[in-house]
Amino acid sequence: DYIAIALEHAQKHRFVTRQAMTDQLTGLANRYGLETHGMEIFQMATDQDQSIGVLMIDIDHFKQINDAYGHAYGDTVLKSIAQAIRAQIRNKDYAVRYGGEEFVVILPGLGTREALIVAERLRIKIAQMMIEKDRKFPTVSVGIYAAIPGALDILHEFIHRADLALYAAKEAGRNRSRVWSTNPEFYVKG
Ligand code: GH3
Ligand code: MG
Ligand code: MG
Repeated sequence: DYIAIALEHAQKHRFVTRQAMTDQLTGLANRYGLETHGMEIFQMATDQDQSIGVLMIDIDHFKQINDAYGHAYGDTVLKSIAQAIRAQIRNKDYAVRYGGEEFVVILPGLGTREALIVAERLRIKIAQMMIEKDRKFPTVSVGIYAAIPGALDILHEFIHRADLALYAAKEAGRNRSRVWSTNPEFYVKG
């Protein structure tokens, strides 16, 4: 019956689209998801004049973890961190595996203060994690940018600023959060 076939096709299409937007290792969204669904979330906040927070999270000295304990353990660490991120955010937030060991989290409705609270809660949670005794679990550094998007602001600009703040967090010694500001000397410390 045609309707059943049409419904089945629609269902398969949804499944394939979802798969294409999902990172296989961590189950978080991937770059394609960021460019599609992430962009929609950002556009919605822009249209509604809502603030939006962006976190850029990068694992500290992850190469050393791989070198010391092997790539398989590194993969398990990545999955555990992704799981921790998922557990700490709301349904309407969007977590993306942005690069190998970098994550972007989009927090609709959140301003700087609230985004910093989310970042610090997450960072501290991860700093307390352990999956195998005798094996170190890495910390993360977090860069933050939050604002009400103006007409000229695009998601990539938010990510770029969060990335600059992340760089400052790394420079300052890692395992910390930093908020972007016009003057890097005054980046807000987490
Ligand atoms: P930093 O604190 O400055 O971020 O140092 P880092 O070692 O984390 O940064 P670097 O960019 O030098 O190394 C990133 C490492 O992440 C190197 C790469 O092997 C590892 N990596 C990236 N993707 C994966 C992955 O899917 N699985 C595993 N196990 N490792 C990965
Ligand atoms: Mg990195
Ligand atoms: Mg790193």
